[in-house]
Amino acid sequence: MEQVLHFIDGKFVPSADGRTFDNINPATGEKIGTVAEGSAFEINQAVTAARRAFQTWGKTSAAERSAVLNRIAQLMEERLEELALLETMDTGKPLSLSKSLDIPRAAYNFRFFADFVKGLSTECFEMEGVALNYALRRPVGVAGLISPWNLPLLLLTWKVAPCLAAGDTCVIKPAELTPMTATVLAEICKEAGLPDGVLNVVHGFGPDAAGSALTEHQNVDLISLTGETSTGRAVMKAASATLKGLSFELGGKNPNLIFADADLDDAIETTLRSSFANQGEVCLCGSRIYVERPIYDTFVERFAAKASELVVGDPLDPKTNVGSLISQEHLERVEGFIERAVQEGGRVILGGKRPEHLSRGAFLEPTIIVDVDSSCEITRQEVFGPVVTIQPFDTVEEVIEIANDTSYGLSATVWTTDLKRAHRVAGALEAGIVWVNTWFLRDLRTPFGGSKQSGIGREGGVHSFEFFSELKNICIKL
Ligand code: NAD
Repeated sequence: MEQVLHFIDGKFVPSADGRTFDNINPATGEKIGTVAEGSAFEINQAVTAARRAFQTWGKTSAAERSAVLNRIAQLMEERLEELALLETMDTGKPLSLSKSLDIPRAAYNFRFFADFVKGLSTECFEMEGVALNYALRRPVGVAGLISPWNLPLLLLTWKVAPCLAAGDTCVIKPAELTPMTATVLAEICKEAGLPDGVLNVVHGFGPDAAGSALTEHQNVDLISLTGETSTGRAVMKAASATLKGLSFELGGKNPNLIFADADLDDAIETTLRSSFANQGEVCLCGSRIYVERPIYDTFVERFAAKASELVVGDPLDPKTNVGSLISQEHLERVEGFIERAVQEGGRVILGGKRPEHLSRGAFLEPTIIVDVDSSCEITRQEVFGPVVTIQPFDTVEEVIEIANDTSYGLSATVWTTDLKRAHRVAGALEAGIVWVNTWFLRDLRTPFGGSKQSGIGREGGVHSFEFFSELKNICIKL
């Protein structure tokens, strides 16, 4: 895609002032094309279109909206190969992952909410002999949807699908590093019969640019953001003047607790994925690994041996397990974390450097660091790369305390075959999602989101509709 344009009121348009920025393939360092750089002007045009379109889209029936969502899903499935390739060119992730996870799940997000909206109910309270109260679910208005670069289409559609299903209209601000699949989504929505203005896409940057213009706009009712915790703070501040509804999915520093009685083969296999899938650029990655002392040495040895077999390389090669990081700048940031971990006494037992066989691109070997403690930066800050730490622990109380000793609270994983311990530890961990003997197993009906500084609100199933719609109580005196 040589020219990525905005999609406003059903038309692809450049920026009014002609401004663009380059789109770079991080795996090759080559320029893919240019992207229209939006500003407050384009945001205002898009919000105006979305507000007008809300007058009709907000009054359609759930069945009509469901039908459009299903058509969108179908068209995405038909264009899976193309979407997967664009996603990989933008992010550097393995094409095998884009094809098996990102795009199929993005399409499924539409199918899921298309079904879910038809079965939604509300509440009814009878005051016997006095009155009957019932609630009606109504769309809110115009939503600003701001998405990150790590799972671009998957996370964007996780917002767009419930937003449209609820009867709201939207202005999307995709991550500046990954603009392509959001643009194809706009094309697909038009082809699927979504009326002009219901979905708009404005490309550009975050602070003092398109992103902040969206969060400040007085005609935007809701902001749903997935991004860094610091971005959540900035958006909350910007949205406060107009009292927008906010839903935030933010960063994580997720603990992975492995007890001595765990099924070690399964724990190692799954921990490889939870450490290095998508180059470790998944908010749910378990970057802090805690292993009970009796199996610590065995775990470290076997895990490092398996991790050393992962193939780092060309994202288009089907054999590749670990692709390129999102950008050179991010690679340098991740390398900075590794350097400082070593300065703090950490020992790199695998990786820690750029692979010698790759002369270009933002590649980094899967990296394992030991001999760190909970005071080190590497165990406290979100690195968002293929880097994990492993620490031993002795007691349940100790590991719960270290696992919770963080300002984040997104997800956690527990490995044990002791049923009671699984329940007790899962209940004690401060996280929005706890997986026991698995990772990234998702039922889209369940609440998804972070506690502490990892987010505000929950997405998924009815929780998404609680954000994207409003309940109106009607009280009838009998
Ligand atoms: P980011 O916060 O830098 O950017 C996210 C989006 O916000 C981008 O579209 C960006 O342009 C926009 N933005 C940035 N500053 C803004 C501002 N001041 N006003 C308005 N918009 C602004 O995040 P990223 O680097 O793209 O993504 C990685 C982060 O996202 C990590 O912290 C990761 O943990 C988090 N994440 C969280 C989840 C989750 O479900 N909790 C999922 C994926 C990623």
